[in-house]
Amino acid sequence: MTAVPAATAPTALDPRTRRADFPILDRRVDGHPLVYLDSAATSQKPRAVIDAEVAFLSNENAAVHRGAHTLAAEATELYEEARATVAGFVGATPEQLAWTSGATAGLNLVAYSIGNATLGRGAPASARFALAAGDEIVVTEAEHHANLVPWQELAARTGAVLRHIPVRDDGTIDLDAAASMICERTRILAFPHVSNVLGIVNPVAELVALAHSVGALTVLDACQSAPHLPLDLPALGVDLAVFSSHKMLGPYGIGGLYGRSDVLEALPPFLTGGSMITRVTLDRTEYLPPPQRFEAGTQPVSQAIAFAAAVRYLDGVGMDAVHAHERALEQRLREGLRAIHGVRLLGDAPAGVDRVGLASFDVDGVHAHDVGQYLDSRGIAVRVGHHCAAPLHARFGLTASVRASTALYNTADEVDVFLDALADVRPFFGVGA
Ligand code: PMP
Repeated sequence: MTAVPAATAPTALDPRTRRADFPILDRRVDGHPLVYLDSAATSQKPRAVIDAEVAFLSNENAAVHRGAHTLAAEATELYEEARATVAGFVGATPEQLAWTSGATAGLNLVAYSIGNATLGRGAPASARFALAAGDEIVVTEAEHHANLVPWQELAARTGAVLRHIPVRDDGTIDLDAAASMICERTRILAFPHVSNVLGIVNPVAELVALAHSVGALTVLDACQSAPHLPLDLPALGVDLAVFSSHKMLGPYGIGGLYGRSDVLEALPPFLTGGSMITRVTLDRTEYLPPPQRFEAGTQPVSQAIAFAAAVRYLDGVGMDAVHAHERALEQRLREGLRAIHGVRLLGDAPAGVDRVGLASFDVDGVHAHDVGQYLDSRGIAVRVGHHCAAPLHARFGLTASVRASTALYNTADEVDVFLDALADVRPFFGVGA
C-alpha cells in the first residue's frame, strides 16, 4: 500500500484502552476483525450506556411527570437529571433543552412551529416568527436532507423563498456569497456546524453575525459536531440547534433541541397532546412553558437516561482529547486517500481548516456500492450513497460517494487497514493502471 507517515501527534486519548468499553468492537465480519468507519451514520455504544438503559428499565421504570408512586418519582428525578446533564454538555440550562426523537424531528419541530406562528397560532410573541410571501429562508448547498426538506416544505406552505449559499470547490462555504445573499428579506438561516459529507467545521460565528445583522433566526444542525468537538451553543450565539443521541455514543430515538430562552418561550408548539399542557377544556388549551411545551406524549425516559450516560462518557474522555484524536486520524486518512491512484476527495480544503474525522471520496471507475461491498468483505464498514445530501453530491458531479468516518474508539492501525484495502479496489475490479 501507499506509504503513510506514522501518526506522531501525541493525543491524550488512547483508543486501545477505550475500545474495551465497546462490546461490539470485538466482533468479526467475514473472518476479519471489524473495522467500524461508519460513526457519522451512527456511533457504537459503550457498556456504560447499555448498562444505564438496562438498569433504569430493571429498577425504576415508570412514566414521568405524573403518578404519585415511588417509581414515577424516581423516574422523573432521573429523567430531569438527564436533561440537566445533556444540556450542560452543550453549555445550556435544562430549560433550554427539549427532547426530540432526533435531529430530523427537531428541525421539523422548528419548521412546523414557525409555520404555526405564520398561521397566527401561539402567544402574541410568536408573531415575530411569522413569514410572509417573499421572505427568505437561507440554507447552504451542504445540507443533510433533514435540514433542507423541512425548509422546502415551510417555504411552500408560507410563500417564502428558499435560497442556498454555495459551497466552494474545496468544500468550504462561500462566505462572500453568503454576505451578498443575506439581506433584510432573510428571516431564517439554517446551516450545518459540520457537513456529514465534507467533515469541515463551518464558520458559525461569521454566519451568525451575518444573520443577526439583519434580524434573522439562526438554526444550527449540530449533528456532526456534538459527537466530536467541545460544544457551547450559547457561546456560538445560535438561536436554535439540534443534535442526535445515536451519533454521540447514546441510544436511538432521542435527540436535543437547544433554544435561546426568549426564542423557545415565543415559539408555538408543533406536536400537541398530553404532557405539554396546563389546562384543557373541550374548546381550548393552555400550554406549559418550554421545554415541556415541545414534548407531547409519553416521554423517552430510558433513552434520556442512557443519553446522559453517553455524554458523561464523552465528558470523561474530554471533548478536546476526542477532537485532537480524531483530527490525527482524519489527517492520516486524507493523506492516505490522496496517495491512492483514482481516488478523488470531496471538499479537500486547505490544512488550516478545522475538521472532524471523516472523508468522502469517489473511486474512479468503481461504483461506491461496489467499493463498500469489497471493503465489507475485508471487515471494513463504511457508508456508501449520497449520505442524505444529494444536492451536495450533484454539486460535485456525483450521485454517490464512499464515506469513512471515525470516532474516539478508532485507531491509526484501523485507518491503515482501510487504506490498504482501498488501494486494492481498482485492481480487484480491473480498473485503471
Ligand atoms: N444532519 C446531519 C448533518 C446528519 O448527519 C444527520 C444524520 N445522518 C441528520 C441531520 C439527521 O439525524 P437523525 O437521522 O438522527 O435525525
